[in-house]
Amino acid sequence: MCVASPNLSLGGGACGVGLRDWSYIGVCVGPAFAADWLLRWGQDGQGAWLRGQEHRCPALCGQVLLGQVSDRVCLTDCEPPTSIGAETMASPQGLKAPLEFGGPLGAAALMLLLPATTLHLLLAARSGPARLLGPPARLPGLSELWSPAVLLLLLTWLGLQAALYLLPARKVAEGLELKDKSHLRYPINGFQALMLTALLVGLGVSGGLPLGALSEMLLPLAFVAILTTFIFSFLLYMKAQVAPTSGLAPGGNSGNLIYDFFMGRELNPRIGSFDFKYFCELRPGLIGWVLINLALLIQEAELRGSPSLAMWLVNGFQLLYVGDALWYEEAVLTTMDITHDGFGFMLAFGDLVWVPFTYSLQAQFLLYHPQPLGLPGALLICLINAVGYYIFRGANSQKNTFRKNPSDPSVAGLETIPTATGKRLLVSGWWGMVRHPNYLGDLIMALAWSLPCGVSHLLPYFYFLYFAALLVHREARDELQCLQKYGRAWHEYCQRVPYRIVPYIY
Ligand code: NDP
Repeated sequence: MCVASPNLSLGGGACGVGLRDWSYIGVCVGPAFAADWLLRWGQDGQGAWLRGQEHRCPALCGQVLLGQVSDRVCLTDCEPPTSIGAETMASPQGLKAPLEFGGPLGAAALMLLLPATTLHLLLAARSGPARLLGPPARLPGLSELWSPAVLLLLLTWLGLQAALYLLPARKVAEGLELKDKSHLRYPINGFQALMLTALLVGLGVSGGLPLGALSEMLLPLAFVAILTTFIFSFLLYMKAQVAPTSGLAPGGNSGNLIYDFFMGRELNPRIGSFDFKYFCELRPGLIGWVLINLALLIQEAELRGSPSLAMWLVNGFQLLYVGDALWYEEAVLTTMDITHDGFGFMLAFGDLVWVPFTYSLQAQFLLYHPQPLGLPGALLICLINAVGYYIFRGANSQKNTFRKNPSDPSVAGLETIPTATGKRLLVSGWWGMVRHPNYLGDLIMALAWSLPCGVSHLLPYFYFLYFAALLVHREARDELQCLQKYGRAWHEYCQRVPYRIVPYIY
């Protein structure tokens, strides 16, 4: 029978896989990975890290054998290992990281598909039938897409947000420990940037700035933002050539140009104290999103005399979401985006194009397709958004408080599981309901943002559908990382809290 445990060598015989000094051994516990596959990370005789030896071992189903083990572990009854070398790559540190998003081909496809989808959505929202799944709308000629004035507008916006980022901050926070044991420092002034932007825009509008006209420029703006993102990602890729090895991300250094360009090579690209990833993550795109929403609301008021109730709701809900993200800005420092992913096309495009132009889709749809919404319906939708926000904020705050100070009175009474790393996992409160309660709250809010647009079209539900897919994928990535980090304790957590996002369903 296959049995193993950390720090314990069982069986004593040759494992016959040419590896020794196992670092991690584990059973993947999600449907994304067959439950009876044993994934193993280890070092070969030369000390190089290898991931990708697998054993199919039915006897291990549902068990986890994971930990920092230095002894050889014998899996005598397992089938012989099969290499999944094609699915791994070597980082400069010798670490083999699995390829994500379908490897270089998947990355290339996404780099075509994501910009095309953005333009399709913008065109569909203003078209009569507003079909999400219809044939792609005809792309206007270059003369309608490209304009130096629009480029100047975009650069002015980025420059303004960069200037606000550089203003003195109410607090400077430390990021998590890096590979070289250092900590980066980050200004916490995102909410201040939102308020100052609101002030400047308010002054501009009262001085005659035609903000509503922005709604007519969304297509060329998105086009220019896409081009800018490609150039920016290229510069980031070049900058990573001179970055120290310790500054590279685990996932974006396969040696394949396309894949690395997409994933991002450098973990925290900076010039001086200006952190490009942190800046892009929460400012130009997120604040740009609510500015676009506001422009659409103003335009609707100009067209129809006053903004519709549906437009007010969409604007209000999304402003709450953006305001919340910036108010709790410090929480971004522990997210996967900041701590794990390199800064390349994937994040740059997400931050600078995808968020402002596709997250504002409901407001775009409403401008061209007004929807009747009565007070009872509006109240019900407000209630749904409030429930979602309550779960989202409660779960995120509970975990953040617990991670910052486990003896804080608000979390001290919660039940926890100890892990080998010294950190504990919450197993009651929000995190005892499902394993990602914050995703559940986020999804409920996503639904509330679409409902004001009625049920006649699928297009305004794009965000909800895309976001559900994103969170399912993100959750699987996070589970794998947690399994690597916490091993046996994570498995115990999965047994005690069996559902991932939606209680009794998923
Ligand atoms: P999470 O905030 O869910 O963090 C996951 C981490 O939390 C794990 O890696 C682990 O890290 C810790 N953790 C997991 N379970 C427990 C537990 N039981 N007890 C204590 N700690 C635990 O990650 P995300 O960055 O994915 O999400 C942050 C927020 O951003 C979410 O609300 C999400 O919905 C939202 N989001 C929104 C997006 C959008 O486009 N609108 C996109 C992506 C995310 P460790 O143990 O190392 O602390």
